[in-house]
Amino acid sequence: MTDHEEFRRQVRAWLAGNVPAGDLPDPDTDDGFGAHRDWERRLYDAGYSGISWPTEYGGRGGDVLHEAIFAEEYELAGAPVRITRPAQRFLGPTLIRYGSAEQRRRWLPGMLRADHIWCQGFSEPDAGSDLAGVRTRARWDGDRFVVDGQKTWTTYGRFGDRMFTLARTGEPGGRHRGLSCLVIDMRGAGVRVRPVRQAHGQTGFAEVFFDSVAVPAGNLVGPRDEGWDVAMTLLSFERGPDAGAPVRTRRRLDALVGDIVEAGGSPGTVRDLGDLYARLSAFQAYTCRRVGARLAGEPVGAESSLVKLFAARLDADIVQLGVELFGDERLAERAPEFLDYWHSRAGSIYGGTAEIQRNVVADRILGLPRC
Ligand SMILES: Cc1cc2nc3c(=O)[nH]c(=O)nc-3n(C[C@H](O)[C@H](O)[C@H](O)COP(=O)(O)OP(=O)(O)OC[C@H]3O[C@@H](n4cnc5c(N)ncnc54)[C@H](O)[C@@H]3O)c2cc1C
Repeated sequence: MTDHEEFRRQVRAWLAGNVPAGDLPDPDTDDGFGAHRDWERRLYDAGYSGISWPTEYGGRGGDVLHEAIFAEEYELAGAPVRITRPAQRFLGPTLIRYGSAEQRRRWLPGMLRADHIWCQGFSEPDAGSDLAGVRTRARWDGDRFVVDGQKTWTTYGRFGDRMFTLARTGEPGGRHRGLSCLVIDMRGAGVRVRPVRQAHGQTGFAEVFFDSVAVPAGNLVGPRDEGWDVAMTLLSFERGPDAGAPVRTRRRLDALVGDIVEAGGSPGTVRDLGDLYARLSAFQAYTCRRVGARLAGEPVGAESSLVKLFAARLDADIVQLGVELFGDERLAERAPEFLDYWHSRAGSIYGGTAEIQRNVVADRILGLPRC
């Protein structure tokens, strides 16, 4: 794999010549999803998908630093949102860690090429923060599992082909034991996908219902009844450092400053901005430190909760300041970044809520007693 600085030069040059001019349509629409899928294929064909994944599964075979460089350059170039993000960031890495050689060969290349869109099927109507409370049941039936239940808040569920699911295979009282991770074909018999309309009017999100869905034994990922560890690894990848995130956040903050300079800001506003830039610098430094730790071979662990907590709060505060100063309509008009006002609110919920991250930090990093 290319030396890091040379890699950065190559990525920058490729993105400069290939990032579509203007925004692609919203990926939560049919047209938009198709346009984003085409973009994913261009990235894949150019060798810019799965930067740190093994080459035998279609990746580029780089290290964590190559991955971080790509993420930074991608955001600096203002390239489109990735519809393979769940696959690239946490579903694929979990399969690389826990999947069998046959499963990796079967699933990973199609994930990177966006031939199959992968969804995360953890949350249920009565199991979010309390994930061990999942009620979706996978009954063993001789040579396969039969799944009944419901998942909710499934990102890109409307377009999904495969779902990485957590289901109960053991006794209901077993809590963390008796859960297993299964890959379910979302186009198969007995699966019903009901799109959910969101605040911005689009319907990429979905609820997914399973009615006696047959799942081959070969779709079990990791040991049967011990899927909790697999699920926790997946979540730590999901919450873990993303070198592109501070770049995205800086763009948002710079856009806000541009508006404030034009409109004129009070001393109070300048103080608020100073505070936000200081937090952005800390976020950037902490992200670099976590990337460095991963490069040195440290596992992604509870510290990913700190990253998630910090990033979600900072993003929401930047957007909130903009809304307080200018009102959401004017912001939407002047700075397209602020159209995702709603999404900034969701940052403290998806991947585990802010309260749950604080519980993890208190328990696993600070070692505080449980109340
Ligand atoms: C944009 C978005 C995308 C998502 N995508 C997916 C997806 O693709 N796949 C998927 O499986 N899920 C997805 N989710 C769901 C997400 O993981 C859950 O919403 C989240 O885990 C919270 O669960 P809940 O909604 O059931 O809230 P609840 O768990 O019911 O929590 C309600 C409130 O109580 C608080 N609370 C609960 N327990 C505790 C506790 N022990 N201590 C302190 N406070 C507590 C919570 O912090 C929260 O404020 C997505 C959510 C969003 C917003």
